[in-house]
Amino acid sequence: MAQKRKAASFDKEAYLAGYHRRLDLYDVVRRDGWPPAPMVRSAEIILGDTCNARCVFCCAHKKMGDWLPEARAFGLLEDARRRGNELIVFSGGEPTVCPYIVPLVARARELGFSIIEFMSNGLKFAEPGFAGKLAAAGLTMVKVSVHGADPATHDRLTGVRGAFAKALRGISELNKAGVYTSTNLAINRLNYRQLPLYADLFVGRMGLTGFCFYFGFYSGKFSEDGNLQVPYSAVLPSLKLTLEYLRVRKTRIDWKFLGNFVPCLLPSCAGVMIDWGADYKNRNNSVSAGGGDSRPVSSIYDDRKTRLPKCRGCVYSGVCYGVDRLYLEKYGDGEFEPVKKERKQVFRPVYW
Ligand code: SF4
Repeated sequence: MAQKRKAASFDKEAYLAGYHRRLDLYDVVRRDGWPPAPMVRSAEIILGDTCNARCVFCCAHKKMGDWLPEARAFGLLEDARRRGNELIVFSGGEPTVCPYIVPLVARARELGFSIIEFMSNGLKFAEPGFAGKLAAAGLTMVKVSVHGADPATHDRLTGVRGAFAKALRGISELNKAGVYTSTNLAINRLNYRQLPLYADLFVGRMGLTGFCFYFGFYSGKFSEDGNLQVPYSAVLPSLKLTLEYLRVRKTRIDWKFLGNFVPCLLPSCAGVMIDWGADYKNRNNSVSAGGGDSRPVSSIYDDRKTRLPKCRGCVYSGVCYGVDRLYLEKYGDGEFEPVKKERKQVFRPVYW
């Protein structure tokens, strides 16, 4: 009889030995002079597709090619500041491997952005001295993408052996260098059952108070791989358990942390869903990539999502973008039901 393969055990203690955590949101807000919450205007510059990981669900896949010409990136940065943005986000691809990233961050500081942020896989930050170099240039915040609660899952999803250990090391190095750090997880079929374990590790053990769970976006590789796609209804039991964990331990919630969800899926948590709502549209946040001008983030959602005929009877119909068109093609609209009355909210984010 074939023997069942035993899952490799994950020794949390070994991974966390020497882990460094001391930064708090309130300290960072004071230190960096963050503007009053929640109306922080942000601009994101997508620097290119180049990356040192090979995530199987990458949504940046084949969009832009190599790096933006350096002069173009600096021009977009100056334009973003002229338009009154306080927060600048550099993403990709992977911003840490962009050849002109250090002078670009230094220029962002010179221009007076209060928050200079990377969306990163964290790999480079594991290298000694790298976090310190960027912190000295002006980097204030990094959202590190970690897509599993153990090395096997994260390494498989990112296509890089040792990526989990490096991401954890990177988070520790960033904390040491005084850069405020949080994690992002892209929910898919291979990791959705791990959400409670993920919260236990990153929130319970590592003490992070900023974290985001994004339901997989139907673009790039994710939209092409049916093995990664999963319906909301399959994810909700595990997500609810995670939310209950956060509620019971009275976790401080720094900001909204559910991405690509709609209020009717979890009406009592609508207040921590990121990408819907009048305040999100009004903030006028923008994104720039390649040759085109910057465009409002809300227009991306307007393009990708659609409201359903039954949304007309929902209290959120005026402010909700609706559901991803490609998701509806695959799973239909049976999971979405109009909300008749706004519910009391379980969480209240302290910043945005
Ligand atoms: S408007 Fe539609 S998709 Fe949005 S919360 Fe209401 S029923 Fe759900």
